[in-house]
Amino acid sequence: MSTGLVSVAYVVASVLFILSLGGLSNQESARRGNLYGVAGILIALVATMASVSDSGLVAIVIAVLVGASIGIVIANKVEMTQMPQLVALLHSFVGLAAVLVGFTGYIDPLIHSTGAEHTIKLVEVFVGIFIGAVTFTGSLVACGKLDGRIDSKALTLPGRHLMNLAAIAVSVVLGCWFLSTDSMALGILALILMTVIASVLGIHLIMAIGGADMPVVVSMLNSYSGWAAASIGFMLGNDLLIVTGALVGSSGAILSYIMCKAMNRSFISVILGGFGQTSRSSASAGPDDRTALETSADEVCEELRNADSVIIVPGYGMAVAQAQSGVSDMTKLLRERGVNVRFGIHPVAGRLPGHMNVLLAEAHVPYDIVLEMDEINGDFPTTDVVLVIGANDTVNPAAAEDPGSPIAGMPVLEVWKARQVVILKRGMATGYSGVENPLFFKENARMLFGDAKDSIDKLVSGLRD
Ligand code: NDP
Repeated sequence: MSTGLVSVAYVVASVLFILSLGGLSNQESARRGNLYGVAGILIALVATMASVSDSGLVAIVIAVLVGASIGIVIANKVEMTQMPQLVALLHSFVGLAAVLVGFTGYIDPLIHSTGAEHTIKLVEVFVGIFIGAVTFTGSLVACGKLDGRIDSKALTLPGRHLMNLAAIAVSVVLGCWFLSTDSMALGILALILMTVIASVLGIHLIMAIGGADMPVVVSMLNSYSGWAAASIGFMLGNDLLIVTGALVGSSGAILSYIMCKAMNRSFISVILGGFGQTSRSSASAGPDDRTALETSADEVCEELRNADSVIIVPGYGMAVAQAQSGVSDMTKLLRERGVNVRFGIHPVAGRLPGHMNVLLAEAHVPYDIVLEMDEINGDFPTTDVVLVIGANDTVNPAAAEDPGSPIAGMPVLEVWKARQVVILKRGMATGYSGVENPLFFKENARMLFGDAKDSIDKLVSGLRD
């Protein structure tokens, strides 16, 4: 394929990626957005394959076949609840690729350069490997935390900010050494030392971030992986990779910003870490002297039958229990009785941005009754019954009422303002952030204990009778 045709294919692929991002911003157009993305990738793959030599083509085909086979097996096996850790793991691959391409690009460069151009190439290699190494180890730690293999609490070592600064300073010194040496052996040594430091920095940065900030970390690492891909693009002189990396990098950064706003946290304080540790706020200081009132499925059915308006607030527990199709059936039954049923979705409900929306869409809940937090928060005071299904942190009143709480100021769904709140969960455990929830002890709150799917099934059969 001629260079001109390859360039045209790359431009078309870039446009499709931009259309894909636009489509993914809305549930109704998400499927179309995904198709644009798939089409863009296919065009990019074909153009890349057509532009390499025969021996390179064999290597690419083998790599694609192996990668695609592993991808298909994983995609078929992974549960929706495990998606965040899979995403984090995939980010780590991009980071590792940037490191490997960086070393290869230094030892055996595809594009030979001299003078200032050569210096710029060396800077690209150094920065690319640095970002790649931080992304690689940081994403592995994020994957471990989300998977429960690593404690989700923030690791706050004394002097940790100084340690991070020192790691960056030493890397800068190594960078100067790398640029000034003419010896390849010394250059590789500088790169190896910097890679080790950046890898430790990646581990330390993410270990210092606690459970409540994990959503931002996932999108932040998404952004890092984009910049790592862009740096690979610079090293390989591949324009499409530069554009794609920049798209992923900037969209990840924008998503991180939106999520920080949703949690009322500054981006810098998230990066610096130390938040989201298990702690007892003053509002929860004495849960022992308060009793959470329990209810039964029959009582909740009665409440629902008498209600005019119901808001359902799903959370991570609904995903774990796979209760979404029961929730959809219940919604249908209630709507048939003329009850105004809507859903309230917190931006960080579940373990992935959009987690709840995907599950509800999969269960055929109509899009128009699934509302964002800002759209529905004002309606709780005029709502008869709120069903909180496996949500905890995202409905915690301590965020609004207790300035001493670790989640103070985080916008939450104000479910306690409704006439009656029913919380479906298995026990009194805290949510992902480890912060106690005073909602359970409110006068208008009742606990419906049990696995969310079992409880919903009971409600569905109760409403059918
Ligand atoms: P939470 O993690 O706060 O709470 C989930 C609740 O579900 C738990 O308290 C648990 O209580 C209950 N639960 C678990 N399994 C079941 C089950 N089978 N049946 C019934 N209940 C169950 O969830 P939220 O969605 O409210 O909040 C999300 C949290 O996750 C936030 O802290 C957020 O920061 C964090 N997070 C979000 C990400 C995102 O991008 N959305 C990514 C990473 C983290 P019990 O054990 O008693 O049943």
